[in-house]
Amino acid sequence: MHREAYQRLKYLVLVASFCACKTEVKRETSAALADIPDDTVVTTVEAPDTTHVDYATTEWTELLTSETYILDLRYATKDNFTKAQIYPCARCFVRPQVQTRLEQIYQTQLKAQGLKFKLYDCYRPRPAQQKLWDIVPNATYVAHPQKGSMHNKGLAVDLTLCDKNGKELEMGTDFDFFGRAARHNYTELDTQILNNRKLLKSLMEKAGFKSIKSEWWHYSLTGTGLGQSDWEWPCPK
Ligand SMILES: [Zn+2]
Repeated sequence: MHREAYQRLKYLVLVASFCACKTEVKRETSAALADIPDDTVVTTVEAPDTTHVDYATTEWTELLTSETYILDLRYATKDNFTKAQIYPCARCFVRPQVQTRLEQIYQTQLKAQGLKFKLYDCYRPRPAQQKLWDIVPNATYVAHPQKGSMHNKGLAVDLTLCDKNGKELEMGTDFDFFGRAARHNYTELDTQILNNRKLLKSLMEKAGFKSIKSEWWHYSLTGTGLGQSDWEWPCPK
């Protein structure tokens, strides 16, 4: 093989192992092979499909818009109680054990009822917790960064239920409504709303999630031994 052709092929194989765009790589590799004499035996390396995988999959799982989830990540927009965008881009990460349980709830319960999850917040990096605190330094609304939140461990999700078309089941208040009406023990609501909250709570608790009194949307997995994390997810360029 000509040295130049070999170098080019070596480069393309290297590119293939990093590039998420499989089709492009295949086409380029074929073009490179055309330059190589017929009697040369070449072993090509199939590029792995690295689409979306730009994080440590042993530590994190990304929840994507799918038949199971709708993402409405409010902290990646200004549509949240701080009126500021906290996350640079909208990506929903959780620890793998959280994903496993959510998927189980969907497969065994929600799917048959024509329902799915809508996620408002997932893993929240500690620097983002600090950012929240800098805007709203009030422990009633935001966990102090030193104490942290279950979201900083990747073990909490803020979520609701919606139908197949994405219409949210009525829960009586919006996400991050700070008032009595968001509490689990607040009963001055329509029966339908109370039943919707009860449904979400029973599904989550049966799967091992814990609720907190003040927020109908917040559920977390405790006792995993996992600590808080500073890891910040990458954003598309
Ligand atoms: Zn929460």
